[in-house]
Amino acid sequence: MLQINNLAERINKYKPEISDAVSRVINSGWLILGPEVKRFENEFAEYNGARHCITLANGTDAIELALKAMGVAEGDTVATVANAGMYTTTALLAIGARPYFMDVESRTHNVTLQEVEKALAFGVKAMVVTHLYGLAVEEIDRIAARCSEQGVPLLEDCAQAHGARVNGRRVGTFGTAASFSFYPTKNLGALGDGGAVITNDDAIAQRVMGLRQYGWSSKYKVELANARNSRLDEIQAAILLEFLPSLDACNGLRRNIASLYGEKIDNPHLVPTKVNDESYVAHLYVVHVCHRDSLRAHLKNAGVASDIHYPIPDYKQPIFEDKYQSLHLDNTEQLSKEVLTLPCYPEMTVAQVNQVVNTVNSWKP
Ligand SMILES: *Cc1c(COP(=O)(O)O)cnc(C)c1O
Repeated sequence: MLQINNLAERINKYKPEISDAVSRVINSGWLILGPEVKRFENEFAEYNGARHCITLANGTDAIELALKAMGVAEGDTVATVANAGMYTTTALLAIGARPYFMDVESRTHNVTLQEVEKALAFGVKAMVVTHLYGLAVEEIDRIAARCSEQGVPLLEDCAQAHGARVNGRRVGTFGTAASFSFYPTKNLGALGDGGAVITNDDAIAQRVMGLRQYGWSSKYKVELANARNSRLDEIQAAILLEFLPSLDACNGLRRNIASLYGEKIDNPHLVPTKVNDESYVAHLYVVHVCHRDSLRAHLKNAGVASDIHYPIPDYKQPIFEDKYQSLHLDNTEQLSKEVLTLPCYPEMTVAQVNQVVNTVNSWKP
């Protein structure tokens, strides 16, 4: 079966580098918040063009701790999209904040300036925008400017978009701060969980650093409330340091696969994504299709896996019961029924891409 991702291949390709990284840490005897974490934080900040990087245990913690550091507290309302897998909403619920759900544009799957304006007019305390599937939010520059004018802090969720650029500038550097995940399948993935916040704001960086370690201002002195333990360990940082130099090249390979799909998928019953520039790092390659179940079955028969990112809009998740019964975001709901993710990862061969293309093109609903 051709999977949508293949971590075994990736790990195999980098085996010597991974072994070196792990040995380095084991030999040092320093396992938590040591030199590897510090070096990775410096290099990832520099890669993005940000002043600070603070690593954390995972991407959901990165959203939560960044928002807390921006001043979001229990009872505050924060804007987010509802088509991005519930991660931001989970972070908001952990804070005790209320989500204000914005709709997205069908073509880009991302939020628009118009939706951001509505949320600002509503009076949200903070704004989260997600660069979904590895595609940068087109109007991120204007969105950042409007949030700034209104004094509303902006968090960019870059968990799917490491390295994407808009006008030569990396995503994650437009807003007040940005969150990243290093979950193994992400464009920059560790061999376990990991996450980070980047920011140019010294005070926010300082607060995230306190929040990730019990609220300490110095050892055993707790000055910051609502803190916890959320750290990236040395082994994962050492492995990420080995992967970071090839991030741009891997993003290029992903983009090539996506652009082959965009050129070659030719079936009147579905709409492929067609973006081929530096604003897209092809974390996921997504098509729109009615009769999705039929295409999935056809792919499966031909040995091709597919997945749905994401089948349930956040506000329709069972935990909310009927709380958002009267909320309807047309594009978000339509997309949850239409989107289908095809295999796309740097190690994929052209023959495998062609196999997927031929299978998709031969399908009739
Ligand atoms: C993966 C992901 C997260 C969460 O990251 P974890 O490390 O799994 O907690 C957040 N936002 C988006 C868009 C993601 O894809």
